[in-house]
Amino acid sequence: MTDRLYYTQPSLREFDATVLSIEQIAARPAAVLDRTAFYPTSGGQPFDTGTLNGVGVVDVVDRDDHSIAHVLERPLEAGSRVRGVIDWSRRFDHMQQHTGQHVLSAAFERLHHARTVGFHLGADVSTVDLSQDLKPGAIQAAEDEANRIVWEDRPVVVRFATAEEAAALPLRKEPEREGLLRLIDVADYDLSACGGTHVGRTGEIGAIQVLSWERLRGGVRLEFVCGGRALRAFRRFRDAVAGCIRGVSVLPEELPSAIERMQAENKDLRKTIRIQQEQLAKYEAIALADRALQVGARFLVVESVPQAEANVLKALATSITSRTGYDAALFSADAPFLVVVARSPGGPMEAGVVLRRLVERFGGKGGGRADLAQGGGLAGDMTEILDEAKRLLAARET
Ligand SMILES: [Zn+2]
Repeated sequence: MTDRLYYTQPSLREFDATVLSIEQIAARPAAVLDRTAFYPTSGGQPFDTGTLNGVGVVDVVDRDDHSIAHVLERPLEAGSRVRGVIDWSRRFDHMQQHTGQHVLSAAFERLHHARTVGFHLGADVSTVDLSQDLKPGAIQAAEDEANRIVWEDRPVVVRFATAEEAAALPLRKEPEREGLLRLIDVADYDLSACGGTHVGRTGEIGAIQVLSWERLRGGVRLEFVCGGRALRAFRRFRDAVAGCIRGVSVLPEELPSAIERMQAENKDLRKTIRIQQEQLAKYEAIALADRALQVGARFLVVESVPQAEANVLKALATSITSRTGYDAALFSADAPFLVVVARSPGGPMEAGVVLRRLVERFGGKGGGRADLAQGGGLAGDMTEILDEAKRLLAARET
């Protein structure tokens, strides 16, 4: 059993200890100490990092026998005395998020009777799962209340109680362990059984910000950040918003409607371009038909068309084959190539069959009927593809 110094001295950054044993965890050396200030992953809070005699601690594991194993970058000697140093910026960040969670959860319970049924302290953001769904206004009211408790700078103290004593106390969070319980007391606001690390006064949380929320299993999952993370989140949003308003010249609060307007304009423009491309295709079709290759009584138009998308190729092919006696195989100019194969009504060529042959040889996919077939994803040398298309169309000549 390891003496957990962080239980009673959560602000301890350095400590001395004896290595009781060196073990292997997932093929890495792990030191078990007689005492430690390193917090092991548990209760939704991640482990501490730092060093033991200068050797990096890369994971801290809470084990069933109540010992704590420190996974190391390289082994230490069993029986040796070591100096442990906690990576304080990481630990303090975890203390801000974790204490912030206690206050936020208490605010939701006090204001809305919404119980916290889950908590996860993530690398970037943390989440709490609440037992009931809430309106945005209710979420904001709890956020305001939680920040009021932060700014009142209330003491956060660690208390110990037996199960019998705890049963008589108004605990928000019921204990998961048996025996002597560790209680976190946010003065006159929240009392919870918890084994994690917390700041000494609520003011150290700095600020609590709810970033987003989503419905989950009849309740709601909130994403939130506290302290340094809240500051960094604000900077990230500030920079993103500043970049957007430089681009569109509106006030920040006008951004959503400006983006909606731009999307609508964009949709209209695309529609206009599509209509104009198709109208233009009629004139291009005349030029292409005039260059047709005559084979017997039929005219073959096999071309690679610059800057043509699928709708334009189709419009061109349809326009060309509206004349009697024409077959067309049109390709986009850039690989992977698009293709449209078409024939004049009643012609002998099977567009679907020609397309299938092209795909068999040059890859891609597609399909269609006897009159019109289209595909894409063809690869290879365009001259070779055009020659093959001419050969296939001509072979269908009657
Ligand atoms: Zn806690």
